[in-house]
Amino acid sequence: MAVSLPKSLMIEKLGLTSLEDCLFHLPLRYENATSLTTASEAMAQMSEDAIQIEATIRSSEIVLRPRRQWLVWLLDDDGVEVVLRYLHFYSSQVNKVSEGQRVRVRGVLKATRFLPGASAEMIHPSIVSADKPLSQHLTPIYPSTAGVTQARIQKVIAHAVAQLPIADTLSESIRTQYRLMDLSAALKILHHPPPDGVLEAFENRTHPAWQRLKFDELLAQQMSLRQAHMRRQTLHAPQFEGTGIYTQTFRAQLPFALTAAQQRVGLEITQDMQHTYPMQRLLQGDVGSGKTIVAALAATEAIDSGYQVALMAPTEILAEQHFHKLTQWLSPLGITLAWLSGSQKKSDKARQLELIASGQAQMVIGTHALIQETVSFARLGLAIIDEQHRFGVAQRLALRSVVKNTDDDSIDSTEAEWVPHHLMMTATPIPRTLAMSYFADLDISVLDELPPGRTAVKTRVVDQSRRSEVIARMDAEIAEGRQAYWVCPLIEESETLQLTTATESYQNLCEALPNRRICLLHGRLKATEKHDIMAAFSARELDVLVSTTVIEVGVDVPNASVMVIENSERFGLSQLHQLRGRVGRGAQQSVCLLMFQTPLSRLAKERLRVMHSSNDGFEIARFDLQQRGPGELLGARQAGDALLRFADIDADQYLISQAQELAIEALVKNPDLVRAHLLRWMRGRLDYLRA
Ligand code: ADP
Ligand code: MG
Repeated sequence: MAVSLPKSLMIEKLGLTSLEDCLFHLPLRYENATSLTTASEAMAQMSEDAIQIEATIRSSEIVLRPRRQWLVWLLDDDGVEVVLRYLHFYSSQVNKVSEGQRVRVRGVLKATRFLPGASAEMIHPSIVSADKPLSQHLTPIYPSTAGVTQARIQKVIAHAVAQLPIADTLSESIRTQYRLMDLSAALKILHHPPPDGVLEAFENRTHPAWQRLKFDELLAQQMSLRQAHMRRQTLHAPQFEGTGIYTQTFRAQLPFALTAAQQRVGLEITQDMQHTYPMQRLLQGDVGSGKTIVAALAATEAIDSGYQVALMAPTEILAEQHFHKLTQWLSPLGITLAWLSGSQKKSDKARQLELIASGQAQMVIGTHALIQETVSFARLGLAIIDEQHRFGVAQRLALRSVVKNTDDDSIDSTEAEWVPHHLMMTATPIPRTLAMSYFADLDISVLDELPPGRTAVKTRVVDQSRRSEVIARMDAEIAEGRQAYWVCPLIEESETLQLTTATESYQNLCEALPNRRICLLHGRLKATEKHDIMAAFSARELDVLVSTTVIEVGVDVPNASVMVIENSERFGLSQLHQLRGRVGRGAQQSVCLLMFQTPLSRLAKERLRVMHSSNDGFEIARFDLQQRGPGELLGARQAGDALLRFADIDADQYLISQAQELAIEALVKNPDLVRAHLLRWMRGRLDYLRA
């Protein structure tokens, strides 16, 4: 369908190789060169925008002081003298102008006192002969890259625009229903807006032509993600009973009563796993909302039906913590657990692999080690991924395809090939708009309630100069039998530097609190060392855990009640929220002390203000989304092209709903529309859809 261009009109550097590539390469902004003003008018208005005037060249010279530059002296019709100043220029430019010539120049006009004989100057204006007809349109300025001039892009795209119309994937009745412009008309107007168009509507992308393009883009996203969702429903997965001896026993002796949210979400998962197709569920719940027990319950159901469960976590500390907790919960029921990690001894690993391959291990917990080639599950029926945003798409997929089912006579042939159910968990709250757009291929459950008896963490924002007060506060808590985390500054540029500062903080604290048991945890330690430190902290053998951000995800030590974060202005919001979530896990009042270094940028101030005023992960995530766009929240899910180019999921909420409605309808009733639309919008970008 893509009409390719003659080679001379391709701009491969920008990926513009077909007619449609060019048509959909839309302007970033526009310049208005359709009208003229005069120098005196412009000076009276003191406008900072580029203006366009006509005048006569009095003289042109290259001077060497104060630095080499080309000066062109103009006299306009009102007698105002204007000097054009070029610090970078080519001799071809200089040679093109001559005294007495009438020219049209475009640039920002500024009053000047420095050049005698001129009252105003323009720096690096464009200059053309006044004989050239005035542009009838706003001039589009396109996204570009090094070595590609605007003039070249404008020429190539103008050529493409001249080939319009192209086929509209949306019929007239659909366009009427959703009040959408005709596609070709929209493209034409975006590339060449009329001079009387409201520039603002084009630039802030609220013009109906922009709406049409955004709608199409969102529609393609919805169609592809929902199609992926539907396609997975054609795969085969084991159907679980939903109960059995393990499930019943575990439910009867739960360590605590489930919250209503945990019950509701548990039921959603149970129902999913009773289907013949694989569950694709994302469980999101704020830090501390109790996702682990929900995962454990799902696991017992799988095990009751005779299948294995894999639980993968992004860090060794977290995986190990899960292993302990689940062993504590499940092994008394007679369930066999296996453990896999990168740092494991060879002999131990071999033994675990054997347990997994033979099917003796009913539940397997580990890190990325779970998805290595050597791991072969006998009957993997449920794959759980904790902190899913920390894994890449490929890694999540790998856990799905590790099923190398051994020939087993007890399984009849139709069952021999299956895909395990898939439960992904995340503590990064996903705002509704994001869930509706980028996550439209997943079913989402939300744990929107914290277990009872928690007291909200108090957050204080403190200037770093008051460090001794912070230490005193922490010491007072330790005197009460509590423990504290001390998180060192995040230094993204250098791991070595990060370690140096962490070591400094650690020594500093040891000096300030000589009688407290303090330990330093960082990424360079061996896995066994990390393990020993975490175990000691959990066992209350340590008072303060000084750490780089390795403790960020999932760590659960309820007796810890103080979280100190140094240079908190360097952290992202969701990271701060995660860190804060490490405390406030017990009944006692916890406190989070966010230290900052002045001066603070406006954004950093805003971020700390949000942390101070809200404990609600969703609210924080929404703010993050507004501030930084979806990239951060998507984590490894984003795959370059997969990000929306035109639509803004925050500003274009209602378009997302409409696109969703149409996508669902079309997938059922209008496969031709889906095919044509996806071909146009998703060509070459299909990879991430399979995730
Ligand atoms: P997260 O959702 O952050 O993974 P966890 O599963 O680690 O949360 O649970 C946080 C803490 O709350 C754990 O100590 C866990 O045992 C406890 N917990 C979970 N659910 C409940 C509940 N319904 N009642 C009391 N405590 C609970
Ligand atoms: Mg967790």
